[in-house]
Amino acid sequence: MERFRPGLPNDITFPDKPREECGVFGIYAPGCDVARLTYYGLYALQHRGQESAGIAVADGKKVQLYKGMGLVPEVFSGDQLSQLKGNIAIGHVRYSTTGASHAVNAQPLLFRYAEGVLALAHNGNLTNVTELRSQLMAGGAVFQSSTDSEVIVNVIARSNRGDLKDALTKCMIDIKGAYSLVILTEDKLIAMRDPNGFRPLCLGKLDKGYVVASESAALGTVGAGLLRDVEPGEIVIIDENGLESFQVLQPRRRSHCIFEYIYFARPDSSIDGFNVNQVRRAMGRVLAEEYPVEADIVIPVPDSGTAAARGFAERSGIPFEEGLMKNRYIGRTFIQPTQDMRDLAVRIKLSPIREVLAGKRVVMVDDSIVRGTTSNKIVALLRDCGVQEVHMCLSSPPITRSCYYGIDTSNEQELIAAKMSTEDIRRQIGADGLHYLSLEGLLNIFGASRDSFCTACFDGNYPVEVVKPQETGKYSLE
Ligand code: SF4
Repeated sequence: MERFRPGLPNDITFPDKPREECGVFGIYAPGCDVARLTYYGLYALQHRGQESAGIAVADGKKVQLYKGMGLVPEVFSGDQLSQLKGNIAIGHVRYSTTGASHAVNAQPLLFRYAEGVLALAHNGNLTNVTELRSQLMAGGAVFQSSTDSEVIVNVIARSNRGDLKDALTKCMIDIKGAYSLVILTEDKLIAMRDPNGFRPLCLGKLDKGYVVASESAALGTVGAGLLRDVEPGEIVIIDENGLESFQVLQPRRRSHCIFEYIYFARPDSSIDGFNVNQVRRAMGRVLAEEYPVEADIVIPVPDSGTAAARGFAERSGIPFEEGLMKNRYIGRTFIQPTQDMRDLAVRIKLSPIREVLAGKRVVMVDDSIVRGTTSNKIVALLRDCGVQEVHMCLSSPPITRSCYYGIDTSNEQELIAAKMSTEDIRRQIGADGLHYLSLEGLLNIFGASRDSFCTACFDGNYPVEVVKPQETGKYSLE
């Protein structure tokens, strides 16, 4: 019997999308139930990782940690949260982009070292982790997990000779790649963002303290207001003396992950000055300008295509309709169809509304195609309902390269747009038209900030170098 496991190719919950990375949350709020607030914060970030969840809490003297495999409400009970008492907490939800899916890789990671205790939660991937791990092992370090997050903890612990600020600074200089980190000591909450600002990290204010989170949607959930984004290359330390910020490295060329706006982030989040829902709507408007098509209705592939479909309808004047209903109750224990029932997977997740679709020329808006394994099934669903024409519009450019900064976009060999022309893909999925949003059109949405984004999975322009030698033909992160 095959059960749903997030991250497996062709699984029903993530049919053909880049895999989400991780979500981090931190809170400094004396007098508040910080464990419970962190639980709610992680709940709001659940879309960023479904494999494991964890919370570490500090009370000024000691640090407690509880973590496990599963969704946030599966890992924590009310009793467990009641036992996590303190003034400061950090939390993490994980989908593994490095390190296998094992409990030992669940975060936060907790370490005792000469200067005290440190817990860390990480979103992103380091690009020099192999080199750093080798150096640390040569110096006697022992690793319990296969995550690059453990490498970061070791770098901090080994350079901390009583001055945490110095150790964090040295760490930021040594580690390369993508990282948004929340760190907890017995009496401090720390946030760090890499100098390119790949992964999001924002800072919020509560009446009695501060919150940091991967997305602003998690701030609202715990009643915090958005103060600002943590700047690329910035370290923020919050303790009984208040908030201290220092810019360790001048921001390099900003390289915010543009896929956060296309697919990953919640529409109610604002990241680096742009609301996700508004950006998605603008993507739809640009799609309509780039692909003027005669059609009767515009429908989204729910939910990630919805905002862009509304934008397409707005600009084209073609009516917006809900033509596909999504089953929202497919959980982790869902029993997958067997291989010979694989076609059922899409039908279980998406149900067409025949009365809306029959006899129509349809523009169907989705966010992206990765391997191209499900689009043909969705088009077939529409055809079965008597749809006359299907024009598939995607609010991203073709994905032709792998990501090395914390997103699992699949191997380059598996990316359909790396192997086939748009016309060949159109034929393969059985659509009458296929249009990808142009990279130019996508970047123009951000106006004067258009050069502040990583677009490597579309154009191969990697902001931080990745080396790809090797006989295996696979890229490495050294
Ligand atoms: Fe985001 Fe793509 Fe850049 Fe990865 S390569 S950080 S998915 S834009």
